[in-house]
Amino acid sequence: MRPRFSLQAQHNYMTSGVYQRNKEMKTGKNIGSRNGFKKGNILGNFGKTGEKNSHWKGGITPLHLKIRGSKEYKLWRTAVFTRDNFTCVWCGDKTSGNLNADHIKPFAQYPELRLAIDNGRTLCVPCHRTTTSYMNKSST
Ligand SMILES: [Zn+2]
Repeated sequence: MRPRFSLQAQHNYMTSGVYQRNKEMKTGKNIGSRNGFKKGNILGNFGKTGEKNSHWKGGITPLHLKIRGSKEYKLWRTAVFTRDNFTCVWCGDKTSGNLNADHIKPFAQYPELRLAIDNGRTLCVPCHRTTTSYMNKSST
């Protein structure tokens, strides 16, 4: 196969700004994706491959159950209920036994907020089921 460019043209390409810019773009892309990971500092320890997800789920379930059964979690839930007057903040349902304390930011993703009263809200079961975090919780 006959090269399209002469050696001189190739040389010009290699030393031209275009080549250098491409190199920079590639480097920049790598830095960009690293920054993307940085966003979830918590995920930092979970490796970089696609297997991350299966490891992640396996790791979070016991933690999730542990937190839900903990004394701190029960205190947090009671504090949220009390603040919201044992009333669903969405529809006003006050049926006791029908209320859940929901994490506005899912604690699987924001474990540091799991006991933040500000991150909790009182929802009745039907309202709670419509939240995306509820769906995630039941699937894990
Ligand atoms: Zn409701």
